[in-house]
Amino acid sequence: MVISDVTALLEQLAPLSYQELYDNSGLLVGDASMPLKGILATLDVTPDVVEEAHRKGLNLIVSHHPLIFSGLKKIVGKTYVEKAVILAIKYDIAIYAAHTNLDSIKGGVNSKIGELLGLNNLKFLCPIEGELVKVVAFVPISDAEKVRKAMFDAGAGSIGNYDYCSFNTEGKGTFRANEEANPFAGKAGEIHVEPETRIEVIVQKAKLSKVIREMISSHPYEEVAYDVYPLLNSYSEVGAGMVGELSDPISEMDFLKMVKKVFNLQSIRCTPLIGNEIKKIAFCGGSGAFLIKQAIAVEADIYITGDVKYHQFFDAENKIIIADIGHFESEQFTVDIFYEYLLKNFPKFAVLKSEIKTNPINYI
Ligand SMILES: [Zn+2]
Repeated sequence: MVISDVTALLEQLAPLSYQELYDNSGLLVGDASMPLKGILATLDVTPDVVEEAHRKGLNLIVSHHPLIFSGLKKIVGKTYVEKAVILAIKYDIAIYAAHTNLDSIKGGVNSKIGELLGLNNLKFLCPIEGELVKVVAFVPISDAEKVRKAMFDAGAGSIGNYDYCSFNTEGKGTFRANEEANPFAGKAGEIHVEPETRIEVIVQKAKLSKVIREMISSHPYEEVAYDVYPLLNSYSEVGAGMVGELSDPISEMDFLKMVKKVFNLQSIRCTPLIGNEIKKIAFCGGSGAFLIKQAIAVEADIYITGDVKYHQFFDAENKIIIADIGHFESEQFTVDIFYEYLLKNFPKFAVLKSEIKTNPINYI
């Protein structure tokens, strides 16, 4: 077992293609072919966390926040980032981050928060766009079932809680093979008309190459005719922030007390209470002020996030309660996602949660 076996599995959970453009998730330090000794899961990487991994004999740190975020021009040990990088290289420890790609998946940062708050009907507040394409394949009627199945098995045709979704129309395909060709039907130099099925399926971009590969290899034609169209549909399985509902509405104060207890908070910074009961809750772990408008648009009673600036609180305008519970506090349980997933998949290796408190903010 080597480091890249672990990172490949983490990327099955949270594909790197889901990270935001500004992000820097992935393997940041270390040799991917190094044999694995053990894994330390953490929210942040600091020099103390690298020392902890070394002390415990672990050589892979898996963190939520990328240690190297905006690039490094020097590594001379002047900042905590440079110090941590130097220590990791010195001890032969690899550092891997799954950041906004982990935020945006089901079972990721926000699913965890929804689970902790006991919410039902969890949906993404801002589903990802540009992630879906339509694949249309033209197949002889006699082979349509086989090709359709190959595409489904490769991951095509999944919509929400349904799979095996396709639309099929029958028509006539025409072609003329030249002397070099080895046609499925017809003769070289003659125009052939073949009864064909036009198979239409929706495909996630991350699965497109596999779907095309399987479609072509199961197709009887020498030259396969197919189209790939970009779609403007949003993809409800991946996105930013989430919204969910309590089974029974409770008072604003009771809900805030529950949030304080669940997240071990000393205080919550929030806009004035409105006097409505809380039923629908929008939330985004980390810095989520960019989703305040979406939280209002879905008519959530409260929006829970971190890093809200003074002027952003004014956007509540008595339509919603904006509650800032702290960046670290909202994401503190993210470590459990790594821990549980890695422990399940690598039972023969040491997988530990960091014991270092990395939150740089204190409440005095
Ligand atoms: Zn964060």
